[in-house]
Amino acid sequence: MKIAMIGTGYVGLVSGVCFSDFGHEVVCVDKDPAKIEMLERGDVPIYEPGLHALMEKNVEAGRLSFTLDLEKAMDGAQAVFIAVGTPTRRGDGHADLSYVMAAAEEIARTATDYLVIVTKSTVPVGTNRQVKQVVRKANPSLDFDVASNPEFLREGAAIEDFMKPDRVVIGVHNDRAGEVMNDIYRPLYLRDFPIVTTDLESAEMIKYAANAFLATKITFINEIAALCERVGADVKQVSKGMGMDGRIGNKFLHAGPGYGGSCFPKDTKALARIGQDNAVPMQITEAVIQVNEEIKRRMVDKLLDMCGGSFNGKTVGVLGVTFKPNTDDMRDAPSLTVIPALVGGGAKVKVTDPQGRHEGEALLPGVIWVEDAYKAAQNADVLVIMTEWNEFRALDLKKIARKMATPRLADLRNIYSVRDAKRAGFEAYDSIGRAGFS
Ligand code: NAD
Repeated sequence: MKIAMIGTGYVGLVSGVCFSDFGHEVVCVDKDPAKIEMLERGDVPIYEPGLHALMEKNVEAGRLSFTLDLEKAMDGAQAVFIAVGTPTRRGDGHADLSYVMAAAEEIARTATDYLVIVTKSTVPVGTNRQVKQVVRKANPSLDFDVASNPEFLREGAAIEDFMKPDRVVIGVHNDRAGEVMNDIYRPLYLRDFPIVTTDLESAEMIKYAANAFLATKITFINEIAALCERVGADVKQVSKGMGMDGRIGNKFLHAGPGYGGSCFPKDTKALARIGQDNAVPMQITEAVIQVNEEIKRRMVDKLLDMCGGSFNGKTVGVLGVTFKPNTDDMRDAPSLTVIPALVGGGAKVKVTDPQGRHEGEALLPGVIWVEDAYKAAQNADVLVIMTEWNEFRALDLKKIARKMATPRLADLRNIYSVRDAKRAGFEAYDSIGRAGFS
């Protein structure tokens, strides 16, 4: 089967590469010439573990190629996937569907034979029907169907998630489209990964409901963590005890500095807007959005305490800026709340991140980028662990403490413990939802 993939971002590129690895012929299209140039050279524009090797393998096998030319990509394709961005629309929290609708029009102008137009981007309920109308209006004689196929991959583990999904969700409105979608996913179906086939609206809703639920779970434990600090409980023990209950599950119960990333912030906002528009307020989701903002600000207060009430003239080292490890994605990362507060308060901020510098440089003006954790700690008054990259999990804490002006550690990912910090010679240690010392 030939597939065209529109958009070579985190989702489009990973999906395109994995579909080609299933044996399909895949042509990935992007309107960004710099991205296509890189991909044609064999370089990957994003950081995603394992992606480069899998891409190289399938390009060499002749199943995967890249182009700026949609017509070329769609020539002979039975399915075209829309995997473009759906960011928060400025001002109102709605998902911005302009990229999706522009892609739909381009498809309509280009297509000649029957094909299935599949929306992989996260889109509000009703969007697939809107895509259908847009295509029909632009090309009334075209024989086509639409399908909704939301994506659940996690950046940093995207290939594993795509190849071994908990489930694949396919929303269709007739059997003809369902058959094409089943052919595309047959390799997963044959290996017993569940495929959930629904109507278009339910598929669209599953994605928002799932993301809002996960954001709620994280925010719930973050709020419990704040209470743990006050009442002398340890959130790590609390999470463990809660998570062993099969009805709750142990995933997404790690307290931290608030959720960020390219999905949860924008998808929770979009769901809240969908609820308002339909007169069914999503009160839990609205509370989650608000509490998450408070949690990020609580991190700034923690650091202010560690700095003795003022950032002015202090040197702060920051380990990690990306919203989670194993990605270079900085979208809505908690570091974008915390670091500007440090800089704005007059601190000298030294930052290190294994992959975040490229994105982070433009987003974090006024910081000094250094190569590693030890350079970030040099002469610092406080060291902050923002992102739990592997290289920050086994630091030589004694060496770090010796390098600092005042050895104080703010461990916003609960990697270390009071015991670790005391043994290493720190004079203060704070984390999330656990007792510290100063
Ligand atoms: P992205 O911003 O990384 O990539 C989007 C790409 O689409 C860009 O390269 C852009 O140049 C290209 N593009 C836009 N309009 C185009 C057009 N008309 N023709 C060709 N190319 C075009 O976005 P992403 O993170 O891959 O997310 C894509 C969608 O998938 C979003 O709706 C997102 O919510 C959803 N999603 C993302 C993730 C994730 O972890 N990033 C996970 C699940 C779902």
